[in-house]
Amino acid sequence: MKISDIVISQRLFFNTQKTKEINFRKNQLKKLKELVLENEQALFDAIYKDFGKSKFDTFTTEISFILNDIDYYLKNLNSLSKPKKVRTNLANQLGQSYIYPEPLGNVLVIGAWNYPYQLSLSPVIAALASGNCCILKPSEIAENTMKIMSKIINDNFPAEYLFVYEGGIDETTELLKLKFDKIFFTGSTKVGKIVYKAAAEHLTPVTLELGGKSPAIITKNANLDIAAKRIVWGKFLNAGQTCVAPDYVLIEESVQKEFLESLKKYIIQFNYQPNSEHYTRIINQKNFKRLINLIDKNKIYLGGNHDEEKLYIEPTILNNITWEDGVMQEEIFGPILPIISFNNFNSALNQVLDLEKPLAAYLFTNNSEEKDIFTQILFFGGGCINDVVMHLGNENLPFGGVGNSGIGNYHGKFGFETFSHQKAVLQKATWGEPNIKYPPYSESKLSW
Ligand code: NAD
Repeated sequence: MKISDIVISQRLFFNTQKTKEINFRKNQLKKLKELVLENEQALFDAIYKDFGKSKFDTFTTEISFILNDIDYYLKNLNSLSKPKKVRTNLANQLGQSYIYPEPLGNVLVIGAWNYPYQLSLSPVIAALASGNCCILKPSEIAENTMKIMSKIINDNFPAEYLFVYEGGIDETTELLKLKFDKIFFTGSTKVGKIVYKAAAEHLTPVTLELGGKSPAIITKNANLDIAAKRIVWGKFLNAGQTCVAPDYVLIEESVQKEFLESLKKYIIQFNYQPNSEHYTRIINQKNFKRLINLIDKNKIYLGGNHDEEKLYIEPTILNNITWEDGVMQEEIFGPILPIISFNNFNSALNQVLDLEKPLAAYLFTNNSEEKDIFTQILFFGGGCINDVVMHLGNENLPFGGVGNSGIGNYHGKFGFETFSHQKAVLQKATWGEPNIKYPPYSESKLSW
């Protein structure tokens, strides 16, 4: 069947109103959960083939997220989908006001390769929980994960409800010409703009989950050892191919030396050697070459070794970096950590403010004034104080960017709202008519 026919079939199926039934939605989510559990080993194998991601990392950063998302919606679907009664203002008496969350229709989810299961299936789960039909276009760059998701879903769900469309740029371009009721895109800012333009043709609402350069700022008031430990973990997780990884470090000069020594200690302790099972590889040669070009040999503090055949890049710390260096001109998206020092906290924040709004920002300090300034002054999608990355694991927080790092958000109830329309309904009594609103009008009516 052609993809355009599948899109039409989803529209027709949506119009049957079947997906509005809460039990239908719950059953589909339960089925997806069972399929994920039954096929867990195949999911681990596929991602390992794509970029050497270990079973442990895949479970903690992908599969467990998907299972948690399904459990969250199974538990909360009744209350999320219930019409909510709201206060009715004086002009609308005698009446009652309600908000009815309703599904948008047939939606398109376009995934990225770096967390191929989580970034494809989490939005799909939110879309189904909200009562939509869905087409998923995973990233072709992680080919094996795309194929396994397509097999699991297309063998078990009717295409008129949920379908995985395999393909790359050509297929996505073809999809984007079709009409959807929502497009949810995860990927680069550059492609996000292409998606946004295409969506405008049909006035389709979008959620764009994009990237950016996310800073980690460390002041002299930080617990430096904890800062180093958490930054090493969050930066080199998935070999730095994480949208919310700290892209670069801004460190107060007086503690720079001590912090660098702690970084080194944890990089050695966590064993990111070429023989480590737990250190992910770079996704492909194109990205490998791009990353190697970002390493200025004169500024290497630690690391810098690489093996093109194995697509391995050692965790690399670049010290004494300036804002003009090549590594500061684009999102790194790999295991290279530039360090820039500062002497004044406020001017360091101002330098971040001069850049595009990042997807995440992190501050390490135990000083409450610095915490307040960071939270109140900097613009960023989401972030942490005294940690990195972990905010996205809290389903009670919205996850998304701002400005160049994205439009909209998801996770938990925010995901449900992202794929829903809030329909406003005012129900009036047929008595208690306020005649003041009807013509003919007079001065006395105005002064009422
Ligand atoms: P990408 O933009 O290259 O690709 C994303 C998707 O768009 C893929 O499915 C791909 O097939 C499709 N695509 C690529 N080029 C296209 C084109 N010309 N026309 C139409 N579709 C096209 O991104 P990526 O390399 O998969 O991911 C890396 C980027 O994504 C980074 O910038 C990263 O920060 C960002 N990202 C953001 C999040 C988030 O949640 N905000 C998560 C992961 C990655």
